[in-house]
Amino acid sequence: MRQVIIIGSGPAGYTAAIYAARANLKPLVIASSVEAGGELMNTTDVENFPGFPEGVQGPELMTKMQEQAERFGTEVVYDDVTHVDLDGPVKSVTLGSGEKHEALAVIFATGSAYRKLGLDDEERLSGRGVSWCATCDGFFFKEKVIAVVGGGDSAMEEATFLTRFASKVYVIHRKDTLRASKIMQDRAFANEKIEFIWNAEVAGITGEEAVEGLLLRDTVSGEETALEIGGLFVAIGNDPRTHLVHGKLDLTSDGTIAVDGRSSKTSLAGVFAAGDVIDPHYRQAVTAAASGTVAALDAEHYLASLPQDLLASASDSELATVTN
Ligand code: NDP
Repeated sequence: MRQVIIIGSGPAGYTAAIYAARANLKPLVIASSVEAGGELMNTTDVENFPGFPEGVQGPELMTKMQEQAERFGTEVVYDDVTHVDLDGPVKSVTLGSGEKHEALAVIFATGSAYRKLGLDDEERLSGRGVSWCATCDGFFFKEKVIAVVGGGDSAMEEATFLTRFASKVYVIHRKDTLRASKIMQDRAFANEKIEFIWNAEVAGITGEEAVEGLLLRDTVSGEETALEIGGLFVAIGNDPRTHLVHGKLDLTSDGTIAVDGRSSKTSLAGVFAAGDVIDPHYRQAVTAAASGTVAALDAEHYLASLPQDLLASASDSELATVTN
């Protein structure tokens, strides 16, 4: 049995791991089979993480965080968690492989998932011109006219990045003002390849084998128009990834895992949460990292309060896997 298992490998998960490992808790990080490293793996320049005056590439930052966590004894498993049992003092975490790990404390740092428009055509044409990740797929849109939906920082970042490949990028936003930060807005406004379409929502995506166009609906007049494009990037935010804990942990009205005040303590003893999965507002790499610190410290204090015999059963943590 482990002392602590951390589910998630973004800035919150790895920072929790760095702190837990330095506290000699020998954490196990479950890093996901396909999305290890979290959202920053899909980002290019990160210019606002302190300590990198020239900026740093998202994947490089995550690799460094992982290395730092491993340096102090963190173990990383690349698999998805399929089930958790959180009641009682011993928690269990089951992976896609069927492996089951037990621990006295669990930290959820599961982040958030791309929000979808909710159109049938979006699913049908996913990977055929509809994408949620410019850094992953931008290269496939060389010299094409494409569109980005959204008015936040993600949409501005994606649109600006996509001008490296596309001949033209429309930004489609349902309002006439952006939610994005001023610096990101200004960068997009200054880019000659970007054209804004205001007060418009995507009502349909056309194309049989691949995206060929959009049906846009004016959010003021209701008028519908067609727009010819060769690709659509959906950048309308994220939803916290809480599917593992539905019915098990209290959630907030925003859909995030509820925590006690500024702590990471969830509604169950020994279960902690950090990063985007508890934060509907700030959702920055640096706030997620800070939140991971809080979770590791809370877990450490919790473990210190447990009976010695229980702690002793978790001390041999390397031999901790129970296989189904
Ligand atoms: P946001 O929630 O900030 O913005 C989402 C945008 O999508 C809003 O403009 C919203 O419109 C629009 N939207 C939401 N749902 C729909 C829908 N169904 N149809 C059409 N439009 C929709 O998400 P982001 O991902 O942009 O940013 C999340 C956080 O990450 C923010 O805190 C941001 O600052 C941060 N971030 C920072 C970056 C950086 O600093 N480099 C880069 C990327 C993100 P409306 O405005 O009408 O609500």
